[in-house]
Amino acid sequence: MIAFEQVPGIYHRMVGDILVTALCDGYVTYDTLDIMKDPDHGKLERLLAGETRVSPPVVSINAFLLRDGERSVLVDCGSGDIMGPTCGRLPGLLDLLGIRPDQITDVALTHVHPDHSNGLTDPASGRKLFPSATVHVHQAEITHWFDDEQKAKATERQKRVYFDAGRTQLRPYLPDSVKAFDRERDILPGITAVPSPGHTPGHTCYIVRSKDEAMIIWGDTVHIPEVQLTDPDVGMIFDTDSPAGAISRRWILQRCVDEDLLVAGMHIHFPGFARIRPGYSGAFRFIQEQWFHALNHGHRPGIRVSSQKN
Ligand SMILES: [Zn+2]
Repeated sequence: MIAFEQVPGIYHRMVGDILVTALCDGYVTYDTLDIMKDPDHGKLERLLAGETRVSPPVVSINAFLLRDGERSVLVDCGSGDIMGPTCGRLPGLLDLLGIRPDQITDVALTHVHPDHSNGLTDPASGRKLFPSATVHVHQAEITHWFDDEQKAKATERQKRVYFDAGRTQLRPYLPDSVKAFDRERDILPGITAVPSPGHTPGHTCYIVRSKDEAMIIWGDTVHIPEVQLTDPDVGMIFDTDSPAGAISRRWILQRCVDEDLLVAGMHIHFPGFARIRPGYSGAFRFIQEQWFHALNHGHRPGIRVSSQKN
């Protein structure tokens, strides 16, 4: 543990009958605004300063564990050992919770990028780190990251960190322990995969429903809410296709508003829960959910007008 750091990041929240546990795999400190695809750094600085966000941003890496008494579903699985000393904490957090890796029944990946999928496999031995898990992932992620023609077009860093690492991570699970999907559909009871391509070709959100509550785990739909809700067209340099990502971001944000979805975000400030409201002129407002001190204290803040009529 590095000096001056906070205690390990574990946070529980109920969504209906499902116990959702946010796990902070760690964080990344960027040293430039060039991570965002907008050359107007003056605008980016103003948006960040207006929301009192540190600039350049320090970004949390979160994963979410869903438990309903039957299954233990991990949505994304941390960064393994690839991202340095401030990351790779997810296995230790599961250990603190008393959960063995072989108790994870499913891993649902939002996409194959090191901060989301490098916790699947030990790269040195090729050993599965979640030996009992079925991996759910969009078919386009497998097709793209195993495509040698696409790899040939990539930079050396992209080849190593995205293509090579992605193949190393997925290979031990293919084909028998992978369930791929290619459209919006239920992957498990109460969990719907919602493809939202752009950031990567098969980037996927997952909508979790239990009783009258609904939550969207939106992966990398938004990296920097202080910028991308005011201007959803701002992409990230990590995007495979930023314009497609911007289209997905806008309709996912609108769906969050229309369906009053609780948001769980991989790069939202830990513990990563928020709601989205409409803003002005095509913008959106980001409202981080309050910290609940205990599971039995008002963990149903999203009561909708429609549910109050009885
Ligand atoms: Zn990410």
